[in-house]
Amino acid sequence: RPLQIYGARKNSAGFEFGHRESLAQLVKDLSAASFDIAAVPLVPGVAPAGEAQPVLAPADRSRRIGTVVNATAADVDKAFIAARKGFATWSREPVETRAASLERMADLLEADRIRFVALLSAEAGKTLDDGIAEVREAIDFCRYYAAEARRLFAAPEAMPGPTGEDNRLLWRGRGVFACISPWNFPLAIFLGQVSAALAAGNAVLAKPAPQTPLVAYEAVRLFHRAGVPADVLCLLPGAGEVGAAIAAHPKLGGLAFTGSTATAQAINRSLAAKNGPIVPLIAETGGINAMIVDATALGEQVADDVVMSAFRSAGQRCSALRILYLQEDIADGMLEMIEGAARELTLGDPARITTDVGPVIDEKQQAMLTGHIEDMRKSQKVRYAGTVPNTGVFVAPHIIELDRPEALTKEVFGPVLHVVRWKAKDLPKVVEAIGATGYGLTLGVHSRIEATVRTVAETLDAGNVYVNRNMIGAVVGTQPFGGSGLSGTGFKAGGPAYLMRFAQEQVVSVNT
Ligand code: GLU
Repeated sequence: RPLQIYGARKNSAGFEFGHRESLAQLVKDLSAASFDIAAVPLVPGVAPAGEAQPVLAPADRSRRIGTVVNATAADVDKAFIAARKGFATWSREPVETRAASLERMADLLEADRIRFVALLSAEAGKTLDDGIAEVREAIDFCRYYAAEARRLFAAPEAMPGPTGEDNRLLWRGRGVFACISPWNFPLAIFLGQVSAALAAGNAVLAKPAPQTPLVAYEAVRLFHRAGVPADVLCLLPGAGEVGAAIAAHPKLGGLAFTGSTATAQAINRSLAAKNGPIVPLIAETGGINAMIVDATALGEQVADDVVMSAFRSAGQRCSALRILYLQEDIADGMLEMIEGAARELTLGDPARITTDVGPVIDEKQQAMLTGHIEDMRKSQKVRYAGTVPNTGVFVAPHIIELDRPEALTKEVFGPVLHVVRWKAKDLPKVVEAIGATGYGLTLGVHSRIEATVRTVAETLDAGNVYVNRNMIGAVVGTQPFGGSGLSGTGFKAGGPAYLMRFAQEQVVSVNT
């Protein structure tokens, strides 16, 4: 195995894109996969008490994948007691032990990758490409944070200075860290948070999104097999109340959250209202992500990149393109190409090799998206609307032309692309409108004028700027991911500063 596997564009999990034989085998395995997973809270000493709820596939609501028993407020208390104990031993383990557990986890995931791709497709409606990319990203997170833990935490750092003493700076875990993750990357973001918190020496209470408890359950069981003790990593499936109980708990040492801006703000308020220790919040939220295309851009490439950024993963990525700014001179031709490319997309069963766009996650998201499209129809121009399959919770790709950027007032988390035209002299106004949203996650620029690219990137606060390419799929260790403002707190996931946010410093000064 090559020394530095994470960050590789291909094959870190043993997959090769475009390798017909292995894909064909994968599709066969996927169609044979059936699940009956009974997910329960994983907290030492807690027997599942609640009622088992069915978990149904978004692509086919008659398909049951398993059941879940949600955690209760009492389970949250017990989990804190267990995890405090777990922390006492885990935080004293050598960094090497923690890093090795993460690497074992990566190996186990790699060995079990087909099952996880199948489960992601069943529970989260992920297409084959998305499932493969997600398993690979999860493995990359484990390996990257293992390497980062060794780099940052393995030995205390001797500090220079005039005191004549032995001054050493070291990093340790913060205690019981909560990891609250979203349904759109139920494996990669879930594991990214958890592996970072564990690597830094914390015990972890993980609360997955209510839509995707089974992937999380399987991942936590694998972590336990990889050598992470049961009281060091507890799973608390449930809805918002469970997350709220965790955030409000006086023994909380820190919280990592990925999800909506509104929920991050609510968590921030809850943390601030406590009379206990002041703990960090690491929040990654959404964005009204824009792409600016000027008249020098390459048409075919723009069309490909726009369709991929707006519609891949059914637009259910924080990084996805929401509002496309097309320079007027090229707008008609470009829209024709983009609509042509959108028309080529195949919607349907995410486990089929030919499917480009799978379902959205649930009826609530579907209703939000169709409601938005209907609202827009009243005052704006719907240029393109795809068609949806008969089963499952699907929303077809839509392209809506706005008469002004302010017509889009919120993040619309799905396959809906908004388009605005701009005149060459008005580039500063475009930049101002993008900045005025208050979000700063991803930004796309298609231009061959270097000064335009530089000015736009320098003026806007976007966390990830993508030039002359699509704007999704940040690679762990290569393109650290995360935003600012309404889009999150930083530090960036998959980047060199992330683990430090999960740890705290201590300086020991010895009079020698
Ligand atoms: N890291 C993902 C990407 O670059 C997005 C993560 C998210 O949706 O939260 O596309």
